[in-house]
Amino acid sequence: MPKIIVAIDGYSSCGKSTTAKLVARQLNYPYIDTGAMYRAVTLFFVQNHITLTNPREVDQALSQVQITFRRQGELGRNDTYLNGLNVEDEIRKMYVSEKVSEVSAIASVRHELVAQQQRMGRSKGIVMDGRDIGTVVFPQAELKIFMTADPIIRAQRRQTELLAKGELIGLQEIADNLRMRDHIDTTRAESPLRQASDAVFIDNSLMTLDEQVELVVRLADEQIGLSLRKRETGLL
Ligand code: C5P
Repeated sequence: MPKIIVAIDGYSSCGKSTTAKLVARQLNYPYIDTGAMYRAVTLFFVQNHITLTNPREVDQALSQVQITFRRQGELGRNDTYLNGLNVEDEIRKMYVSEKVSEVSAIASVRHELVAQQQRMGRSKGIVMDGRDIGTVVFPQAELKIFMTADPIIRAQRRQTELLAKGELIGLQEIADNLRMRDHIDTTRAESPLRQASDAVFIDNSLMTLDEQVELVVRLADEQIGLSLRKRETGLL
């Protein structure tokens, strides 16, 4: 079967990662959470008190960051490692969320992480989610999804997620953080969040997780079928 790239972009906490993970499992493709990569860099910068406005300091710090993903046991969890340490829980904390969009707006950070992401998808057969996957990382992706949901629903989902990890944060604080990140992500100069012209738009406010996954898998199967026909007719 030909392999395709599934690029899922969208606003913060709209269920991209949860959907992407399950779609990847059904397609038997690896899943890459690019938000986790930006969060890991942010954690390193915070821990090392990097001055974000000093390009030399930023570049030097960036050269010391190594991000990897490792599958955890039978559960199929793919945890994020920063320089060999499992930081999966730490990078989801509120103090990282508060800084991550500022760090993600730095051009050199984006150049480095985009290059790493492109290498990961070189042989296709991958599901990747983020803000610029369909526009910058893989503009040639066979399937592009642009996802969103009502801001209140997004804040409630995020609150439940944080609570499950033992962090109790008020709905207003979460809503403010999502609004701030959406604003920085959509207005930054370097690869801002926007819907690719050939992306399928999904508002999942009133959809169940199963419905979303089913829809994306059906769209992916269509694209795999299309690639197969192209290959058979010699167009690929
Ligand atoms: O997906 P998640 O909410 O974990 O992403 C955290 C932040 O990382 C986003 O708010 C955004 O600032 C940044 N990001 C990005 N480009 C990506 C993925 C995430 O700028 N491809």
